[in-house]
Amino acid sequence: MSDAIYLFEVKNFEGDFYYQSNRFYMRPKTEIVDPLIQLKRTESLLSMLLQKIGYNIPINAWVVFINSEFTLYQSPLDLPLIFPTQINRFLKQLDTNTSKVSQKHRALAEKLCSLHVQDNPYKQLPSYEYDQLRKGIACDMCNGLLVLVEGKKCICTKCGHHETVESAVLRSVKEFKLLFPNERVTTNAIFDWCKVVTSKRRINRILSKNYKIVGTHQWAYYE
Ligand SMILES: [Zn+2]
Repeated sequence: MSDAIYLFEVKNFEGDFYYQSNRFYMRPKTEIVDPLIQLKRTESLLSMLLQKIGYNIPINAWVVFINSEFTLYQSPLDLPLIFPTQINRFLKQLDTNTSKVSQKHRALAEKLCSLHVQDNPYKQLPSYEYDQLRKGIACDMCNGLLVLVEGKKCICTKCGHHETVESAVLRSVKEFKLLFPNERVTTNAIFDWCKVVTSKRRINRILSKNYKIVGTHQWAYYE
């Protein structure tokens, strides 16, 4: 089918997952939102949008798992899933599927771009102060603040997700910068924000490796 819109729900899941009775779990047994349900929802919203703007073009919808450390057990054969080991072949397959891009396609692309919402008008940010917020590292998988440090790994005590301390700290720095754009990223600030990393030197090493240091000694901060 060459005349179609390809819709991809991209997931960066890492670790072992399984399907059971149409539900999606992370091992050992944490249910997470089924990406296929997300895909169905997005597909139907896109389909309604296309109808509304007067296009009748089929949608080819897939979930793509891009992380090479991802495994899915008990995956039924007929689901629209693309696994890390299949991405290259899928792209090659797409390439062989040639067709002419017509004025109609260009007009649709332009229309979709023009409808792209940069800033969600429905977002309502609650007011917050640094002191009110619970400190710690949020799990990359379940968002729980129950992450502990064990050696070089951060381990979530709620869902069991593993991540290197470095990548967990860097995620927390991003959070910190987003929540407090006027605050400087310093070793002390991130040490306090992450809480569970008990060594300031470790925080310092991660920051110096990944950010540019500005100033010296107690006035140093990272950009
Ligand atoms: Zn977790």
